[in-house]
Amino acid sequence: MELDLQPLNLPGVPTERPLLIAGPCSAETEEQVLSTARQLRAAGIHVFRAGVWKPRTKPGGFEGQGEAALPWMKRVKEETSMLTCTEVATPHHVELALEAGIDVLWIGARTSANPFAVQELASALRGVDVPVLYKNPVNPDLELWIGGMQRLNAAGIRRLATIHRGFSSFEKTIYRNLPMWHVPIELRRRIPDLPILCDPSHIGGRRELIASLAQQAMDLGFDGLIIESHTHPDEAWSDAAQQITPEVLSIILDNLVIRSTADTTESLKTLRRQIDEMDNDLIQLLSKRMRVCREIANFKKEHSIAVVQPNRYSEILDKRGAQGVLCGIGSDCIKTVFEAIHTESVRQQIEIINN
Ligand code: PEP
Ligand code: MN
Repeated sequence: MELDLQPLNLPGVPTERPLLIAGPCSAETEEQVLSTARQLRAAGIHVFRAGVWKPRTKPGGFEGQGEAALPWMKRVKEETSMLTCTEVATPHHVELALEAGIDVLWIGARTSANPFAVQELASALRGVDVPVLYKNPVNPDLELWIGGMQRLNAAGIRRLATIHRGFSSFEKTIYRNLPMWHVPIELRRRIPDLPILCDPSHIGGRRELIASLAQQAMDLGFDGLIIESHTHPDEAWSDAAQQITPEVLSIILDNLVIRSTADTTESLKTLRRQIDEMDNDLIQLLSKRMRVCREIANFKKEHSIAVVQPNRYSEILDKRGAQGVLCGIGSDCIKTVFEAIHTESVRQQIEIINN
């Protein structure tokens, strides 16, 4: 099913790339919301974000001010003429947000991972002409990502854009959520008209990573950025490590290089970034493989089994070689790579068995 899309058409917001949205992770107090909004407006931001209802990983954290924060968003709009944007996760949130005049809704990554929840939101939005920003589901499932947007679209939401906020993973990496850029790149290939915004705050999880992630998104031809900003980031009630002051945001935005989309996806720099990303994935995968090998070593040690079992080794080389050829890689290359991997895993296993 194709998506039937219309431009977001945000009144008063410049239409050139990138669309910029900024604001705190959470609306904490009226003073925090308004002072952040004033500073962001002065920094040239036209769309203000703040979480009113917060999905938290564990109970006991700050779960947002809820309904009480909606009048603060209204004041932001009246005082700064910025558009306001908040997360909705239930039909009740939708009703309250629309009643309070919130201009743009976003659907969070935990919600977009749940088709029942998305369908309920879609039904609540039927007949409402409001721009919706749809975050990728926490798991890297492109079909689920697209499927959720189809549900909204089928309910009549045509002013739709999506937000790439990375994917959660069990592995500990420098990122809070792995960017896995190839997933949004494939989304762009499948639905070229869908605007894609990047959320470097939730991908990075650390403020030091925001500038380079934002630049990478621009180099890949993304349409906009949504960045968390707080007047006193270290004192933020949620996501403190990833928030930046409006002043820092302004410096990051001034330094962004925006190339025209036509020459970006093919540029050498972009392609090299993709290579870096894939090499990073390869190394992570190899390290995971080594960990499994060490588990096997522990098992072999317990059961007094020899480290190298020639049959198993030849089976791996034969199978991987044939598979490589099917994927367009020479069998010699595959053989060399797997011999090197095997040598390292034998070395690691011997270390365990001798200890
Ligand atoms: C947020 O934007 O504050 C948020 C909760 O994001 P996500 O759904 O991407 O985790
Ligand atoms: Mn957040």
